[in-house]
Amino acid sequence: MERPLILPFLALLPLLAQGCLAQGDKEPLTVVLTFDYEDLSHEEGGRNIDALLQVLEKRNLSVAFFVLGATAEKYPEKVRRIHEKGHILGMHTYYHNLPLFTREDAERVGRVYGVDGEAEWRKSFKTPEAFLRDLMDTRAAIERATGKNGTVAAFRAPSMVVNWVSDEVYYRVLREAGVRVDSSVYQDFENPRAYYVVDGVIEVPLVTFESRLKNPKKALDLAEECSKKGVPFHFVAHPQALSPENLREFEDFLDLLEARYDVTYLRLDEVYGGENKNIY
Ligand SMILES: [Zn+2]
Repeated sequence: MERPLILPFLALLPLLAQGCLAQGDKEPLTVVLTFDYEDLSHEEGGRNIDALLQVLEKRNLSVAFFVLGATAEKYPEKVRRIHEKGHILGMHTYYHNLPLFTREDAERVGRVYGVDGEAEWRKSFKTPEAFLRDLMDTRAAIERATGKNGTVAAFRAPSMVVNWVSDEVYYRVLREAGVRVDSSVYQDFENPRAYYVVDGVIEVPLVTFESRLKNPKKALDLAEECSKKGVPFHFVAHPQALSPENLREFEDFLDLLEARYDVTYLRLDEVYGGENKNIY
């Protein structure tokens, strides 16, 4: 049947109302799931990954994994499997070093996490050149594992340090390294945005972590706030923290969200409209 080119607005109203009724009284909620796969000092991450991939497959979910270069080098078959299951791969540095470029920033991060700032500084890249080199090495390790070039264009900063430091060098180096999307910044509910652009890099904010599953009430409050403000509930988890028992908690939590909201899952790149969308 041919559609009329122009529908009078009033004729659309019953259709819109029907669309709302079809979903019952549930409010819409967009859910984005991302995982930091850092199987370096956390070998249990590798043991948990197959069960996690099965859960994602069973629920027909396509997500993003941020992977350490060292993990891709040590467990290429796991990284290849993630890729083959249709998930996207991003970088999480090679050895979980921090993109910090001044001692002051290292001290600040030390205070935020209640750790020794000097030790944070020792683990940091310190120079833009070292950070850039690390990104190139990490990408090469991931692409060696998958056998596919030109597929890794996302980054997540270890410990989300970019939230507390001067970020000028950070975004410049990401852009130089060909990183299209970064996902390291917390959602600002005073100024809620699904994504925004910093210095040519798309930033997709995150909301909370799997540690909240111990207290789902708090996680549900955050989901409610996301639903109200119309931004994705972006949930970050670590395979090493998803033992069989915790993985069940994670699934229960997704069931809870789906029972409460009209949930739409988006993959990280779908938040900003995919690779073909030119938003610069
Ligand atoms: Zn990490």
